[in-house]
Amino acid sequence: MKTVKFDGVLIELVTGDIIEQGDCDAIVNAANAELRIGGGVAGAIHRVGDPELTELTRPLAPIKPGEAVITAAPNLDNKYIIHCLGPVYGRDKPEKELLKNCYANALRIAEEEGIESIAFPSISTGAFGYPMKEAANIAFQTVKEMAPSLNVVSFVRFVLWSPADFNLHWDVLKEF
Ligand code: ADP
Repeated sequence: MKTVKFDGVLIELVTGDIIEQGDCDAIVNAANAELRIGGGVAGAIHRVGDPELTELTRPLAPIKPGEAVITAAPNLDNKYIIHCLGPVYGRDKPEKELLKNCYANALRIAEEEGIESIAFPSISTGAFGYPMKEAANIAFQTVKEMAPSLNVVSFVRFVLWSPADFNLHWDVLKEF
């Protein structure tokens, strides 16, 4: 585990599973446009939350790349799930801006909903093919830029799926 502070916001990196972050108010889903079960993160979250979760997401779908929506978190210890649709690398453009919007919109919603602690996966870096180092840079840059304006959110965890992903993220974060 590694931590840094951006203004008053504690940033933590861990290796782990997004569905095992019960100490955070909210987790973020690397969703698909239809807000349905999928592979990777969306698979893990919906396997725990369905069928209730899909009942909650259905009226909110579809969403566009960069957008985020919030639901309750059935069968999880978190209060909320914020569902973000990342860009498909090489298809949804400008991908950098769309990925940035995911993090910014998730943090904006968290502020509005009184969420103090939030756990993100590495959005777009699985099935959507975004190179992880670039994606990590965008993620950290966005949190850093928003940190001074965050009054409620005080803890942001990045949950990385493998030790290699964790090490890559730490290599990027320590340069900030
Ligand atoms: P996307 O479609 O946005 O690329 P994925 O869910 O396919 O989303 O992958 C996003 C990242 O999450 C990848 O780096 C993947 O290895 C990782 N990942 C997959 N399953 C989990 C999980 N259960 N918890 C945390 N991260 C995960």
